[in-house]
Amino acid sequence: MTEPIKTDVVIIGAGPAGLFAVFELGLLDITTHLVDILDKPGGQCAELYPEKPIYDIPALPIVSGQGLVDALMTQIKPFHPEFHLGEMVETIEKIGDPLFRVTTDAGKVFEAKVVVIGAGGGSFQPKRPPIAGIEAYEGKSVFYAVRQMEKFRGKNLLVVGGGDSALDWTLNLQPLAGRLTLLHRRDDFRAAPDSVNKMRALVADKKMDFVLGQVMSLEGDNGQVRAATVKGAKGEMSSLACDAVLPFFGLTMKLGPVANWGIALDEEQLIPVDTEKFETSVPGIFAIGDINNYPGKLKLILSGFHEAALMAQQAYHYIYPDKKLTFQYTTSSTSLQKKLGVA
Ligand SMILES: Cc1cc2nc3c(=O)[nH]c(=O)nc-3n(C[C@H](O)[C@H](O)[C@H](O)COP(=O)(O)OP(=O)(O)OC[C@H]3O[C@@H](n4cnc5c(N)ncnc54)[C@H](O)[C@@H]3O)c2cc1C
Repeated sequence: MTEPIKTDVVIIGAGPAGLFAVFELGLLDITTHLVDILDKPGGQCAELYPEKPIYDIPALPIVSGQGLVDALMTQIKPFHPEFHLGEMVETIEKIGDPLFRVTTDAGKVFEAKVVVIGAGGGSFQPKRPPIAGIEAYEGKSVFYAVRQMEKFRGKNLLVVGGGDSALDWTLNLQPLAGRLTLLHRRDDFRAAPDSVNKMRALVADKKMDFVLGQVMSLEGDNGQVRAATVKGAKGEMSSLACDAVLPFFGLTMKLGPVANWGIALDEEQLIPVDTEKFETSVPGIFAIGDINNYPGKLKLILSGFHEAALMAQQAYHYIYPDKKLTFQYTTSSTSLQKKLGVA
């Protein structure tokens, strides 16, 4: 088995609740590792609405989704949290009192006294394109995420989609692909204009191809794709040779493995918690942010912040069972200010 990473707390989910938990735990000298399926921190704010303005964050009359995430990342910097992005927590196993073994789908293993679930609406899962029989190729030559770019070196790649992920991966993979084709049903993109311009420049330089159309079916054997049958803008059919297909059709949210962690869930598939400590049915495992439920719960970012603060107070007793916790303000405590690097 992989050597476990030992830490005080593993936070599952790097959304706003998980990020602010780093701050509240850090003030109490508690070290954290965060795991998130996404390849960037910020949860829904970064993935679903990075440019939308948020108007109900206390003391910030207006901030964009990404702006909030950037500010949280700056705020937690003094505590040096370690991020494990592009990985999904698959299992949580109780191995002590309290001590948990947490494993990810990348084979990483953590041992932590406390686990904080900040998994929001669950895991973001890629939307499967409507191509009959695509399941047979998934994970072998059809990929919805790029975990290792090297895997695609020298390959003939077909990237499908018109959003930021499709364009970002087009630009990242083009230099190492044997040949790369971007396929989109319209000559109009949702992605950042700068990425679209870069893609168009590569096409003009004949360094990649752009094709208008939709994949209708895949041809291949034993999970290895050989070609995609494409319906063009005027209904004409053609065959595009390729070794791998990367469809980026957006994400949906599914509860995912949270349901298998032995924690009580309510009828809405949320984790019931008490409102004093935000602890789950398993002592030492906490749930904060959108994933939890209690009477009066509001799925707002500010709720997750409040829950993180109270969770940290209880987590402290698991991490330092023999120490007394004294309440302090950041304005007046030199000790807290030293931790924040401002005194
Ligand atoms: C369009 C839109 C607009 C919104 N506007 C506002 C607003 O104006 N004000 C406001 O307060 N709220 C708003 N919200 C709600 C707000 O975004 C959520 O309340 C907030 O993001 C919840 O934060 P969270 O940290 O609990 O979860 P999330 O932001 O959902 O983050 C959870 C993270 O956990 C990860 N995860 C899940 N399962 C696993 C696993 N097994 N392993 C590893 N990682 C996992 C996910 O990938 C995700 O990144 C809006 C939401 C949307 C969709």
